[in-house]
Formats: sequence, C-alpha cells, structure tokens
Amino acid sequence: MKVIETLIIGSGPAGYTAAIYAARADLKPIMYTGLEPGGQLTTTTEVDNFPGYPEGIDGPTMMIQLQQQAERFGTQVRIGHISKVEFASIKGGIHKAWVDDNTEIHAKTIIISTGATAKYLGIESEQRLRGGGVSACAVCDGFFYKGQDVAIVGGGDTAAEEATYLSNICNKVTMLVRKGKMRASKAMQHRVTKTKNIDLRYFSEIEEVLGEQVVEGLRIINNQSGKKDEIKITGLFIAIGHKPNTEIFKGQLEMDDGGYLITDSKNTKTNKPGVFASGDVQDKEYRQAVTAAGTGCMAALDAERYINSLKDN
Ligand code: NDP
Repeated sequence: MKVIETLIIGSGPAGYTAAIYAARADLKPIMYTGLEPGGQLTTTTEVDNFPGYPEGIDGPTMMIQLQQQAERFGTQVRIGHISKVEFASIKGGIHKAWVDDNTEIHAKTIIISTGATAKYLGIESEQRLRGGGVSACAVCDGFFYKGQDVAIVGGGDTAAEEATYLSNICNKVTMLVRKGKMRASKAMQHRVTKTKNIDLRYFSEIEEVLGEQVVEGLRIINNQSGKKDEIKITGLFIAIGHKPNTEIFKGQLEMDDGGYLITDSKNTKTNKPGVFASGDVQDKEYRQAVTAAGTGCMAALDAERYINSLKDN
C-alpha cells in the first residue's frame, strides 16, 4: 500500500493552515474533512477578529477560501470521516487510519485537527435560535451586542472570563449558574462579583429562550424555590464547556482529564512520533481561529522536520 507523507484529520482553520504549509513543503497532504467540513466556523455568521479581513468575513466563506488556498498548493481535500487509527510507536513507523470504517490509509505523519465541540443546553428554543442570538463564543460574537443586555450560562472559568469580557462591551450581563457556587477559580469569581454590570444569579436555569427569529428574552427558573422570572435580552452566550473530538484517539494518545490531547509545551508533538496535534483539540484555553491557524502552521513545520529527520537516519 502507498504510504503518503502527511494525513490531516479535520478541516477547521488549524487543518487548512497545516495543509497550506504541508503542501508548500511538498508533503502532498491528504485531508479528510470530518463530518462538519469547515469546522466550528461554519456555524458562525460574521468573523471580525481574524487579521487581514478589515470588513470582517462570514465563517463559511472564510472556510471555503481556506480550502481553495490549501488546494492551490496541491492539498487533496476529501469528504470523509476518519473512524479509526492505529499509530506506530517507534520513530519512522507507519501510521494507519481508516476512512468511514472502510478505506485504509498509511502515512508517515498525521496532523490531528479535529477540534472541539461546544456543549449546548439542548433545549428546543436554544437550538432553534442558534445563529439568531444564541452563541457559544463571546469573544467571536459579543461585539454584535454592544450596549445591549445579554445573558451567559455557566459557572466555570470560561463563563467567568466571557462574562467579564461581555461586561466591557454590553450594557448588562446576567450570569446564570445552576448551583449555589461557581466552579471558576477564586480569582475569576472575584472578577465577576466585583463587576457592577454583571447580575450573578445562582440556582438559575433557563426554561425557555424567548423569541421567534431572534432572541428577545429568557424565562428563568430558580431550581430551589421554583420561582420563575422573565428577563429581556438580545444575546445568549452558552459557556458550559467544550468536548474535544478525541474519541478515536483514546488509549493511543496522551490526553488530559477533559480529553484534550497533550502536546509538548513548545511544539505540536504528541506522545507518538510523527503524530502532531493542532487547534482546539489540544487547546482549551484560547480556542480562537487565529490561534488554531497558528498551531496548524506549527504542526506542518513539525511534520516536515520529522520527515527530514527520517532521511538523516
Ligand atoms: P468547566 O467544565 O470548567 O465548567 C462548565 C460550567 O458549566 C460549570 O459551572 C457547570 O456547572 C456548567 N454547566 C455544565 N453543564 C450545564 C448545564 N447543562 N446547564 C447549566 N450549567 C452547566 O468548563 P469551562 O469551559 O469553563 O473550562 C474548561 C477548562 O478550561 C477548565 O479546566 C478551565 O479551568 C479551563 N479554562 C481556563 C481558562 C484560563 O485559565 N484563563 C479560561 C477558560 C477555561 P456545574 O459546576 O454545576 O457542573
């Protein structure tokens, strides 16, 4: 079976940037897009914070352009889902991957850019209004609610950080925490509680997101007293955690407790030689398109160096 130089799994900003660099380095990369070609950005409307787009760009268009750029240098972009992998443990070993439990691929290097998926509450009105005022990324979408009243759900570091971020842009931020305490670090909690325009509500859960086409408000229930309340908001931010897409790597690659892949602190190497990870699948802290793209570039450079080092032996 033919052994390719580089297989890229996943087609978000990390995967496409890795593809651009790998293709230009003549690694003839083959990319499998996964079940959501283009990744999380295809569910966003406007991307205003990626450098180089002074007028902003909508997420799906940006991903199409990234694909075209990767293909211009010879990346083969294939629609398909890698369902199983078998990584070699020794340097120079051949890594195996299967597409949709079927086609087998052999590669010298593999770049994993499978991303992470934001968790949602799962209630019908929240799902219906995704893209109509419900977002899972305050840094991406907060700006659209400048001067308005918004709400955020969650009590972890992400929710605390995003509530603080939103408080600088929005008129008022209602923060809904389902327990009587927050999971966020003490420092982050302190930042939230001392911010005047954050209305922190414990024991609070959303019963319904109000609005037909766009978010107009929330019906909240206090899960201790059963008391219900309605508030008017235009934006709802869900910050209840992310799930890295690492199911198929379990037992083969080192992960942290949350399932994020562990890479060397200064590069994208995993614990298997020739297997690299970039983007949100190994980053629970920054999670931005531009940081994902940066690590995608690093992964391709790391893959190229690894392949060159095999030739030296
Ligand atoms: P976490 O898992 O830490 O917190 C999730 C929060 O969402 C919890 O408060 C949880 O509540 C709540 N939650 C979960 N499901 C629901 C639900 N269905 N309804 C309402 N609330 C819900 O996720 P984060 O994204 O905040 O953080 C992930 C990791 O990244 C953490 O280790 C964090 O420390 C780290 N991080 C670090 C940052 C930094 O250092 N600057 C910034 C951001 C993240 P409950 O407590 O009741 O389960």
